[in-house]
Amino acid sequence: MNEPSSRDPVPVIIPRSEHPVSRALVASSALKVLYRLKDAGYQGFLVGGCVRDILLGITPKDFDVATDASPDEVRRLFRNCRLIGRRFRLAHVRFGDQVIEVATFRAMHDTGETDEEGSIEEPEGDAEIESEGGFEEDLEPLPVPRGFDERVLDDRGRLLRDNVYGSIDQDVWRRDFTCNALYYNIEDFSIWDYTGGAEDVRNRTLRLIGDPETRYREDPVRMLRAVRFQAKLGFSLHPATGDPIPRLARLLDGIPPARLLDEAQKLFLTGHAHRAYDLLAAHGLFEHLFPAAARHLQREPDGMAARLLLAGLDATDRRVGEGRSVTPMFLFAVLLFGPVSEYAQRRFDEGVPASQAIADACDQAVIEQNRRIGLPKRFSIPMREMLALQPRFHRRAGRKALNLLTHPRFRAAYDFLLLRAGAGAEDPEIARWWTEIQELPREERIARAESMKGEAPPATPGTRRRRRGGRRRARPSGGADA
Ligand code: ATP
Ligand code: MG
Repeated sequence: MNEPSSRDPVPVIIPRSEHPVSRALVASSALKVLYRLKDAGYQGFLVGGCVRDILLGITPKDFDVATDASPDEVRRLFRNCRLIGRRFRLAHVRFGDQVIEVATFRAMHDTGETDEEGSIEEPEGDAEIESEGGFEEDLEPLPVPRGFDERVLDDRGRLLRDNVYGSIDQDVWRRDFTCNALYYNIEDFSIWDYTGGAEDVRNRTLRLIGDPETRYREDPVRMLRAVRFQAKLGFSLHPATGDPIPRLARLLDGIPPARLLDEAQKLFLTGHAHRAYDLLAAHGLFEHLFPAAARHLQREPDGMAARLLLAGLDATDRRVGEGRSVTPMFLFAVLLFGPVSEYAQRRFDEGVPASQAIADACDQAVIEQNRRIGLPKRFSIPMREMLALQPRFHRRAGRKALNLLTHPRFRAAYDFLLLRAGAGAEDPEIARWWTEIQELPREERIARAESMKGEAPPATPGTRRRRRGGRRRARPSGGADA
């Protein structure tokens, strides 16, 4: 049924009385968009994750709309609207801080340009553009600016309008999984199902539309999406959808690092990081996202880095579950701890002081990592600061040691210290000391720190002391794991 040859132009229509998608569960801004399209004589459907999630009893994180109105027609209907994307233009309709993405039905290309995500290029400086005005909740239609008509040519001079925009029964086949290809019709609140998606949702099965290998080759990121939906929804992969993945995993190497960063954040920062990691590893995908980390973990599958990784992912999932904030830099420190500790040990053995050894190791790990997943400086710099602070936890004697408590990265560094202690990469006594000191009133803190004077510095588990240039050094306690 999913084969292109047997594409069914007629959907199964599930009437409102037979499905649980009620308007009360749909964001009012999405409803406004749908009604305005309908009132203007266009088709308006909710599609993708929002329909799937509501069927599963999950609150959708965003609402995507599909319509037969062209992007310019959508733009004329909504003043708070802006067109994005180069080859495939999409409309973003903004309501406060919520954006409803409105996509015109598209036919599938046979040129590999079928994927939605990969072909959209967000203009740079999105945030600035938002403040240009025009996004206030004011639905007055705007005149269409010149040069924004539909006759847009692509790189090869082909008329995009004729080739790209289609009808719903063409749009459905370019979508990835059957569960993501259910359309909720604002006309009569029914759900249109061309691919058997409703049954797959019921059976919690993730099934690619069409021939799996072809679809992965068109867009290898679909392999990561397969893992993400397994992890997020607890679906199992239909065998034909799962089988090609290990064989095709290497295709991820050709995906731009910025796109992989997006996907990595969706995989690891949405509350199911541990499961996502297990699945990525099982499908042979992890090594294509984090090659150095994967090599380290393969060498030492039960080592400190492996323990820290799983504990760090669990902690991240717990935080997300509690609605607390999670920072990508912390996550990347967790994922890259193996290679960072390995490189730090090398620098340390060369006689470089511990903090510097760790900072150097971070730089090396980030340079390597950037070939696969591009880490922006806003993540890599705080990560390096946080890791390079780790040796400072060993300095506890005297009131100056307490300055660490007011360091802007103290909180994250302390959380990382706890992870390291839990993984056996740090003396638990050190972690305990810094936990207790934070609970004491100021006077007692100082007294406690002063009383440390004259005490021998604690031995780090597995400490390797060696002489270099007549000086004694322990391992760099940012977490060498050798
Ligand atoms: P969630 O929002 O929970 O992450 P989603 O399914 O809504 O999941 P989006 O990335 O928001 O995922 O994409 C919206 C819809 O666009 C998908 O449901 C799917 O139909 C289609 N889509 C997105 N990415 C692809 C892709 N790489 N290939 C084919 N279709 C895609
Ligand atoms: Mg979505």
